Amino acid sequence: MIEHAMTCQELVELITSYLDDALPADARQRFERHLAVCPGCAIYLEQMRMTLRLLGTLSAETIPATTQQELLAAFRGLRHMGESR
Ligand SMILES: [Zn+2]
Repeated sequence: MIEHAMTCQELVELITSYLDDALPADARQRFERHLAVCPGCAIYLEQMRMTLRLLGTLSAETIPATTQQELLAAFRGLRHMGESR
């Protein structure tokens, strides 16, 4: 069975659902498989977790859009650094 690999973009889009434990089992499996091979996304997930903790353990849905954008920008910067060398 050929499985479509999850991209970093897909993972970022699913991250709030993942943290809310709202992903279907198959999506969750692909999500975790991508995490296992992509250090950048693993770091991003940790940052999201920390952010949620700082914001007071509310649902991921309640993260202000600006915070999500900042994290996403930081994450992209991280990847670009890696790619340019
Ligand atoms: Zn990734």
